[in-house]
Amino acid sequence: MKITILTICPELFQSFLSSHVVRRAEKMGLAEVEVRDLRTYADGSFRKVDDSPFGGGRGLVLRCTPVFRALEQIRIEDEAAGGKGRFFPESADGRKQERPGTPSGPRRVTAVLTPAGTPYRQAAAHRFARADHLVLICGHYEGIDERVLDRADEAVSIGDYVLTGGELPAMVVADSVLRLLRGTLREGSAEEESFENGLLEYPQYTQPAEEEGAKIPGILLSGNHGEIQRWRTAEALRVTLERRPDLLRDRKFTEAEWSALDAYAPKTAELLKKRTEEWKK
Ligand code: SAM
Repeated sequence: MKITILTICPELFQSFLSSHVVRRAEKMGLAEVEVRDLRTYADGSFRKVDDSPFGGGRGLVLRCTPVFRALEQIRIEDEAAGGKGRFFPESADGRKQERPGTPSGPRRVTAVLTPAGTPYRQAAAHRFARADHLVLICGHYEGIDERVLDRADEAVSIGDYVLTGGELPAMVVADSVLRLLRGTLREGSAEEESFENGLLEYPQYTQPAEEEGAKIPGILLSGNHGEIQRWRTAEALRVTLERRPDLLRDRKFTEAEWSALDAYAPKTAELLKKRTEEWKK
C-alpha cells in the first residue's frame, strides 16, 4: 500500500519516516510512505496556504485550493500507475494480486484529520490497511476549508482534544495502519493487542520477577501455559471492566471467559454479572 500525507509542515515527519515501523514496511515492500508539502501546490512566490475565514472570526483557515490540486495530482499519478496502486500489480488472470495481510479493498481512501471527525478506532485502522492508497490530509491554524472535507472520504479525530495541527494525528493513523500489514510486526503480536478482540490487553511483566518488593503474579512463573492463558483472559476482562466498561456493553461473554473470571478474578465476575443485568435494562 501507499500512504501519502499532505501537510504544510513536512519537516515534522522526518523522524517518523525513519522510524522502525515505516522503514520495515518499506523494506519488505508492503508500503511506501510519502509526505507532500501543500505549499508546493499554492500560488505565488509566497505560496500562501491560509486565509481568514469568510464571515469573520479569529485566526486563519487552510485554503482548499492547494489541497484540491494535490488530490488531483495524486489521482493522475495513481491512474498512471495502472489504477491498481503501485504495490498491487495485476496477476495474469487480471485479478489484483493479494499480498499477505493486505487483502483487496477500496483503491484509494482520503481522510482529513480533524477534531470534529469520527473517533478513530482499531476497526478504522483495519479498514485503512486494506486500501491500496491512503491519503491523509493535515489541517492547521483554525482548521481547514470545509470543502476539503466534502471531497474527502472520511473525517477522522484521534481524540476529544485539540492539537495544533493534523501532523501528530496523521502519524498516529499511519503508524496504526502500517503495523497491521503482515510482516511489519512479529507474527501474531497484533492479534493479541488491545481492541483486537474487543478487550484491552492483559497486564504484561518482564524481568526481574521481584523489584523493590513488587512481585509479578505467581501464575506467570508456573510454566502452565493453559492456566496462564486463562489468567490473561480474566485479567483482560478485569482491566477492561475497570477502565473501558463501554467496550463490554454489547459483548457476548463465552463460557471460557466466565470460567476464567471465576477462577482468577471472582470479584470482577460478580461485578460484571451486576453490570450486564443493568445494561439489559
Ligand atoms: N478550530 C478547530 C476546531 O475547533 O475543531 C481546531 C483546529 S486545530 C487547532 C488545527 C488542526 O489540527 C485541525 O485542522 C486538525 O487537522 C488537527 N487536529 C487537532 N486536533 C485533532 C484531533 N483531535 N484529531 C485529529 N486532528 C486534529
